[in-house]
Amino acid sequence: MAQEGGKVTRVDNDIRVARLEDMAGEERKGEQELMQFKKIVTRSPISEALPPMVEYSVESSEQASALDEDSADRLWLVVRNLKDAEDRKVDYQIKKFDILKLGRVKFRVKDFKCAAMAQTPEELYEQELKEAKPVITSHDQLQEEENRSSSMTPACRFCWGTESTEEDPCIVPCKCSGSVGFIHFRCLSNWLGTKLQRKESEDLVSMFWKTFECEICKQAYPYLFKTKSQRVYKLVDITLPSAAREAGHYIVMESLPFEKNSSRFIHVMGFSERKTQFSMGRGHESEVRVSDISVSRCHAKIKYDPNGIYIEDNNSKFGTIVLMKDPLVLAKHHTYSFQIGRTVLSFTVRDHYDPRTHYMQRIAQFKELIDKLPESYRGSSDEASGGGSSDEMESVKAGESGDEGGEMEEIENTQDEGQDPNQEAEDEQMDVEYQ
Ligand SMILES: [Zn+2]
Ligand SMILES: [Zn+2]
Repeated sequence: MAQEGGKVTRVDNDIRVARLEDMAGEERKGEQELMQFKKIVTRSPISEALPPMVEYSVESSEQASALDEDSADRLWLVVRNLKDAEDRKVDYQIKKFDILKLGRVKFRVKDFKCAAMAQTPEELYEQELKEAKPVITSHDQLQEEENRSSSMTPACRFCWGTESTEEDPCIVPCKCSGSVGFIHFRCLSNWLGTKLQRKESEDLVSMFWKTFECEICKQAYPYLFKTKSQRVYKLVDITLPSAAREAGHYIVMESLPFEKNSSRFIHVMGFSERKTQFSMGRGHESEVRVSDISVSRCHAKIKYDPNGIYIEDNNSKFGTIVLMKDPLVLAKHHTYSFQIGRTVLSFTVRDHYDPRTHYMQRIAQFKELIDKLPESYRGSSDEASGGGSSDEMESVKAGESGDEGGEMEEIENTQDEGQDPNQEAEDEQMDVEYQ
């Protein structure tokens, strides 16, 4: 396997796209690596004589991936700009544990099932294990204390019971330390159950908790946790909407709270022959309501297909984006654009005749474009390149949105009840406006 490619870096507000060979030896001061694009050539395992497989992938840099989801250096895929080889819009195929952002509201895909699942139960378990938060049990604590010869079995702070079993371990699910932190998995799950408000229709179950946190340390509880025995525990039972029970096809999405707000929403959308899509948005016509001014009235659609569950952006004002957690292999001639902070970059894998000159031309053209159109946003508009055998991945700096104040004014008129416009205007997350 051979590799070549390039990367995207940033120094202050200056974003640079370059091939690895062009940037060799010149590192700029304070340079942050944001993303990488790679050409991956895999030789045929059968014969050297067969043509190798060539793929292109894009991924967030290791540095940026380690940052918080809200960091401006994280890489997001822009759903609206996904295009196929004929330049038609393509919906994004949702993966488990994806983080989607509608306007500034984040959703985590907690689970889904469609007819043709690409994953085996083992793979699903591995994935859950990766996502689950590790917790200690009273048994673990006891063993540790025995080594220090001061052992007393910690009791559950709800029922005072001291037993801890594989089925119902006594755990510390929050930041509370010492013996006060222990609680039975079932005691916790039952307690959260009493705080749950449910709304149910034939196709949709919405669950709401005003708080989903420890009352003492205020730490939000995870939904999945794991003990040392590598068993995964789910704090919330998911019941499917009645119309979806037979086929068993559904998606579970959790809306992630803003800071200083520990409320939780979980939506279970059930698919049936009659019901194959759901609309999400701020308007009453949307089935999954999201009350935030950054969300359009009918913002996005969740669509069921036997091969997968997809999201389509419905020309929303602030867009629908997906956090890039894993490398993304780019299909040839398809267009993908990524958002980093306020910058949007587009990538298209195309056939090519002279990689180097073509590439330099592109960079020059798009530098020009950015200067001319500082606030608007464009996909790439490339002519088809001539024949030849080599491929080239183009990277295009498509646009940056500048000013933050203006866009807030435009949506103030359509604001929903109970929002504080001043507070919203201070929010710096909502930088890119899609037109
Ligand atoms: Zn208990
Ligand atoms: Zn606590």
